[in-house]
Amino acid sequence: MINALHLNSSFGFSTAAEFSAALADEFSTCLYSRGRNPTVDALRAELALLDGAEDCLLFNSGVSAISTAVLSMVKSGDHIIAVRGCYVWTERLFNWLSASFGIDVSFVEGKDTWAFEKAIRPNTRLIYLESPTGWSCELQDLHEVALLARAAGIITLCDNSYSTPLHQQPIKLGIDMAVQSASKYLGGHSDLIGGVLCGSAAMIKQIFEREFLMLGTGMMPFVAWQLGRSLPTLQMRLKQSTGTVLNVLPYLRKHPKIEKVLYPFNINAKQYSLALKQMQGGGGLLTLVMKPGFSREAILGFCERLEMFRMAVSWGGTHSLVFPKCAGIAEDLFDAAVEEHRYVRLYFGLEDGEELLKDLDRALEGMEG
Ligand SMILES: *Cc1c(COP(=O)(O)O)cnc(C)c1O
Repeated sequence: MINALHLNSSFGFSTAAEFSAALADEFSTCLYSRGRNPTVDALRAELALLDGAEDCLLFNSGVSAISTAVLSMVKSGDHIIAVRGCYVWTERLFNWLSASFGIDVSFVEGKDTWAFEKAIRPNTRLIYLESPTGWSCELQDLHEVALLARAAGIITLCDNSYSTPLHQQPIKLGIDMAVQSASKYLGGHSDLIGGVLCGSAAMIKQIFEREFLMLGTGMMPFVAWQLGRSLPTLQMRLKQSTGTVLNVLPYLRKHPKIEKVLYPFNINAKQYSLALKQMQGGGGLLTLVMKPGFSREAILGFCERLEMFRMAVSWGGTHSLVFPKCAGIAEDLFDAAVEEHRYVRLYFGLEDGEELLKDLDRALEGMEG
């Protein structure tokens, strides 16, 4: 079952004809592992299938999958429309492209499909989506945006790290390319960094032959091998995390110290019906918005009192994590009136759900304004 690990950087040929053919067409042969490698290729096939895509490429991080894909689609003078609130390094990539490479980027409110339509210019080349967005859990109607982009001849790319293809398949909804960080649920054990880009056979071949080989952003064989061990348990892990969240949601929703819970499958979420339409589940990640009366110190104190949730970035591993947004905001800049400053993101891992609930209850109990 477990894929063989080929650590080769380079592959040998016994005939000059085969060697010449490989030099002429690196997409079709394993010549050098910056391009193709059998361990990585075995996983490419599996991941493309999972996403309902014709083909995919694997990258050394989610961010390199995103940057390589974006760079392959735009040139100076082009315009990008991106969803507001996308992953922080994606937003920095767009700001860098616009400051240094003459590529205009418009950030739009993703909840409103009309906002994408209004932002289209004659030189718009790419619509960049991330649904749900990381902290605020806001959705874009992927099918509607795909339709309007297609009518205008614009390419669509969606970051699907939050959902994985088990809970959302952007390509089946009409999106051209789906990207995800493999460092989260796919890897599942907080021990690898990787990325996946899925799309049509033609687009993947073009990206492979240019940006993938030029930028050298591909996944290393050992990481692909690790990922191959993780995939068979993906469904079980995601099911466990999602089940725990659904069990604790009613408790969190009515807790007097919590203003609201941001989660696509929260029944009082404004976009609940859209979540039902385009997603098959919510996963283990949610954001608490603490009541406005709480100071930065009170919020950080709550996070420190948690014993089963460790303070860390990322998610998707075996252990539960907590990330208070205000940990990244200097004390003098903290403003309790700003909703985002009161965000506390929880990732529910694979521990016993009842124990996690008890831990939250105890830590919230000691929280004072
Ligand atoms: C983590 C993450 C990324 C970046 O992935 P890395 O593997 O950390 O480079 C991109 N998008 C989203 C939504 C993420 O959560």
